[in-house]
Amino acid sequence: MSKILKIIKPDKCNGCELCVLEAQRQLETVGLEGALIRVFRKKLENSEYPQNHLEIDPRINSLNPGKIKIICPQEVFETQEIDGN
Ligand code: SF4
Repeated sequence: MSKILKIIKPDKCNGCELCVLEAQRQLETVGLEGALIRVFRKKLENSEYPQNHLEIDPRINSLNPGKIKIICPQEVFETQEIDGN
């Protein structure tokens, strides 16, 4: 069994980028080059104000998704067990 990272509460994201830093820490990379999580400010069609928008590269699941989930202060993520076969 392995875990995958899922975004369950995207509207709760405050843009703190702790998830980005944790992913980069796991990759042992400094800076945002090759980042597997990106946070953008974006104005959606149905919203008056810009909101934080997350983009996650599926390769994030080769890292430790559980640690990325727990570092988020807004509980934006959930992890899901999948069959690793
Ligand atoms: S850690 Fe959570 S609140 Fe902070 S940018 Fe990532 S998803 Fe958003």
